[in-house]
Amino acid sequence: MDYDWPEHLDDLREEVLGFVAEASADLELVDDAWLVQPSSVFNRRMGERGYIGMKWPRAYGGQDADALTHFTVMETLLLAGAPVSGAWFPDRQIGPVLLQYGSEEQKARWIPEIVAGESSWCIGMSEPDAGSNVAGIATRAELHGDQFVVNGQKIWTSGAHEASWCYLICRTDPEQPPHRGMSELVVDMSSPGITVNQITDASGNDHFCEVFFDDVAVPKDHLIGQMNNSFGQTMRQLEHERGGIDRLVSNKRLYLDHARQADTTNPLIRQRMAEIETKYTIGRHLVLRNVLRQIDSVYSTVTKTFATEFEQEVASFVGDVAGPYAMLSGRVARNLVYAPSYTIMGGTTQILRNVMGERVLGLPREPRPT
Ligand SMILES: Cc1cc2nc3c(=O)[nH]c(=O)nc-3n(C[C@H](O)[C@H](O)[C@H](O)COP(=O)(O)OP(=O)(O)OC[C@H]3O[C@@H](n4cnc5c(N)ncnc54)[C@H](O)[C@@H]3O)c2cc1C
Repeated sequence: MDYDWPEHLDDLREEVLGFVAEASADLELVDDAWLVQPSSVFNRRMGERGYIGMKWPRAYGGQDADALTHFTVMETLLLAGAPVSGAWFPDRQIGPVLLQYGSEEQKARWIPEIVAGESSWCIGMSEPDAGSNVAGIATRAELHGDQFVVNGQKIWTSGAHEASWCYLICRTDPEQPPHRGMSELVVDMSSPGITVNQITDASGNDHFCEVFFDDVAVPKDHLIGQMNNSFGQTMRQLEHERGGIDRLVSNKRLYLDHARQADTTNPLIRQRMAEIETKYTIGRHLVLRNVLRQIDSVYSTVTKTFATEFEQEVASFVGDVAGPYAMLSGRVARNLVYAPSYTIMGGTTQILRNVMGERVLGLPREPRPT
């Protein structure tokens, strides 16, 4: 392994920092903006600057950039607290699955507008009775002639209120066993029959939503990949969702701002800070191994579990440094109540440990219903 960091990427980092300062000058940035602060204006600015879909083929508007260049831009944007969330889902997972499973027409239709920052996307996976168990989804899409008719409900759909498109996981054949009979559709969020209600979380943010589909018509050619057999595609999407830098640095700015105020004459505080700094380094290596594809993609479960449990330790440290003033600092209090979500979103820690047991360690699998 070569630990030398290419010098030109330091210049790129400076360039990205300059971009964030200028493009977000009129915005009041919050911690976790990468997820909770969708901004179509910032999205478009990222597109103009060439920061979306950098790794994708030039034929669709990408730049064929190498993984380290893309990583540097993304890490810098997140550490600077940029409100990337409208572009983040397509860059992280929807673009890659469209490129892998979409038809040429579908790629030509959706990828260039993503790259330009002209569309924002939400992920319609979780339902009230199917979160960890994706195979339990009930939202139904029935094919009538040349269109699907969608009925059902999704929940915890981040950014649905701002999204132009929903990447929807739905059931197209209820007669088949749970892991079969599922399909993936791209749904226009302005379609008649869609109702979006924002949900306010414990921190007061309302970025995630419940989404109702009531006889929503979706053209047949919006089906991505295989009809009635998309479970593998969905699992691939989740692998893209789990191993990235977003899982490590959500509250790093908060940490850095409070580390300066910590009482470093106290050896216990110094010890905790040493542990935190060490874990940032380990976490970054885990992310880089995923990003550079030096390990099997299933290891994203290990990266996400390590990194998000660590983010909760960071929140707790910052709360301890602030002491009783934590309750007076909106920023610290907000992170303390928001931090439990780190190990829930994108698959809970318990579920990821199950996957690690079965697919990384090769332990016996729980039999699936047939
Ligand atoms: C901030 C945030 C943003 C989100 N954004 C989106 C989004 O954009 N799109 C989307 O589709 N979803 C989104 N989600 C939903 C998220 O994916 C689900 O919350 C998550 O998968 C867990 O599902 P659940 O909430 O239904 O919990 P459940 O599945 O009901 O689980 C409840 C508890 O039981 C445990 N559990 C369940 N099954 C098992 C098992 N077999 N073995 C051991 N333990 C188990 C879980 O670990 C958990 O602790 C978001 C969630 C959060 C917090």
